[in-house]
Amino acid sequence: TAPLSEVDPEVAAALEAELNRQRSTLEMIASENFVPRAVLEAQGSVLTNKYAEGYPGKRYYGGCEFVDVVETLAIERAKKLFGAAYANVQPHSGASANVAVLSTIAEPGDRILGLELAQGGHLTHGMRLNFSGKLYEAHAYGLDLDTMRIDMDVVRQRALEVQPKVIIAGWSAYPRQLDFAAFRAIADEVGAKLWVDMAHFAGLVAAGLHPSPVPHAHIVSSTVHKTIGGPRSGFILTNDPDIAKKMNTNVFPGQQGGPLMHVIAAKATAFKLAMEPEFVERQKATISGAQLLAERLTRADVAERGISVLSGGTDVHLVLVDLRNSQLTGQDAENLLHEVGITVNKNSVPNDPRPPMVTSGIRIGTPALATRGFQDTEFAEVAEIIAATLKADPDLPALRARVEALASAFPLYPGLTSPGSW
Ligand code: PLP
Repeated sequence: TAPLSEVDPEVAAALEAELNRQRSTLEMIASENFVPRAVLEAQGSVLTNKYAEGYPGKRYYGGCEFVDVVETLAIERAKKLFGAAYANVQPHSGASANVAVLSTIAEPGDRILGLELAQGGHLTHGMRLNFSGKLYEAHAYGLDLDTMRIDMDVVRQRALEVQPKVIIAGWSAYPRQLDFAAFRAIADEVGAKLWVDMAHFAGLVAAGLHPSPVPHAHIVSSTVHKTIGGPRSGFILTNDPDIAKKMNTNVFPGQQGGPLMHVIAAKATAFKLAMEPEFVERQKATISGAQLLAERLTRADVAERGISVLSGGTDVHLVLVDLRNSQLTGQDAENLLHEVGITVNKNSVPNDPRPPMVTSGIRIGTPALATRGFQDTEFAEVAEIIAATLKADPDLPALRARVEALASAFPLYPGLTSPGSW
C-alpha cells in the first residue's frame, strides 16, 4: 500500500523529472503524443494483474468476464472508427503487430517489397537486422529523387521485377499521402498481398483527413500512440474473413502470450475519444501546424543557410528538413533545438552524405503540440523559433524564453501532482 515515492524514490524521482520535462519543453517528435488523463487512468489500472490468453469468450484462464468487456469494446470501436470488418487489438506494439501481419500473409523466404528504410521506410518492412529482413527476402522501392515523392510507376516497375508476395505501403518519415488504390492495382497485377502500415498517419485517417487504406489493403497494421494519441501499442485490421482468422492465430498463440489488458483498456478509451468532434479538430490543427512550419522553413532567410524542406511541403503531421546543403548536420540541428527546449529527432534523408548517427535531416512533427492545444497562432510562433534557432548565431537564451512562454501558456496535465496519481 506504500506509494511509489516511498517504495522506490529513485524511480519516482525520474518520473517526476520526466513529467517536468514534458511540461516545460515543446515535444515535436513526429511519432509522439500526449495521452489524455482518461487513457493514463485506464492504463495504470488493476487490469495489469490479469492473464487473459485467448480472445473474448474463448479464454484459457478463468475470471475473464470483465476483461472480455474491455477487449470487446476495443475491437468494436476499432472496427467502427476505421470501417473495418475485423480487428485484432492485442499486439503489444507496432513492431509486434507487423510480425503477426507478415506471418499471416507470407511464408519465411517469400519476397516482400517496401519503401527503402533510408528513404522513410520502417525497420519492420525488411531491414537487414530486423526479423522482416532475416525471415523474408526483402526488396525495396525508392523515392523519385527529384520530387522526393513515391512514384507509382517506379513501384510498379520494382514489383514486376521482384514479383513479391507482399507489397508494403507505409512509412516512418514521408510527408505526403499514399495512393492506396494504385498500390492495390499493382499488388493485383503481380499476385501480391497489399499490407498498409498506417502507424504514423492513422489519426489522420480516423479523422477523415487522409484517404483510408482499409477498403484497398488486404491487411492494415497500426500503432495507437502516434497521431491517434493513445497508449503505446498496436492493432491490425482486415475486411477478409480468411485473413482475419489467420491474423488472430498469428497474434495469439503465434506471436504473443497474455495480452496487456490494461493497455487494451486504454486503447478502447483512445478509440472512443477518436470518434469525438474534438479529435477531428485536433488532427486539423496538426496538419495545419505542419504546413505552417514547412512554409516558414522554405523562406529565403532559411534557404540562405542551405536548409530546405523535402518535397517542398507536407500533407501530413510532419516536416522533413533537408540539411544536405547546409553546414549544420541533423545532429547539430537536433542539439540546437534541444537547447531551446524543442525536442525533435535527426533523420537520414535520401542520398544522405552523412552517416546515420549524424544525418543530414531532422523530422519535426506537430501531433503532441496540437494535443496540447496549439493552433495556427502558436504553430506560427514555433516555426519562427525553429527558423531563428537554425540561423547563424542564434540567441539561444531568448529563444528558450519564448519556448517557456508557450509551454506555460498550455499547461500539460494540470491537476497531476505526482506522475502516478491524480
Ligand atoms: N510501423 C511504422 C511505420 C512505424 O513508424 C513504427 C514506429 O516507429 C512502427 C511500425 C513500430 O511501432 P513500435 O515502436 O510500437 O514497435
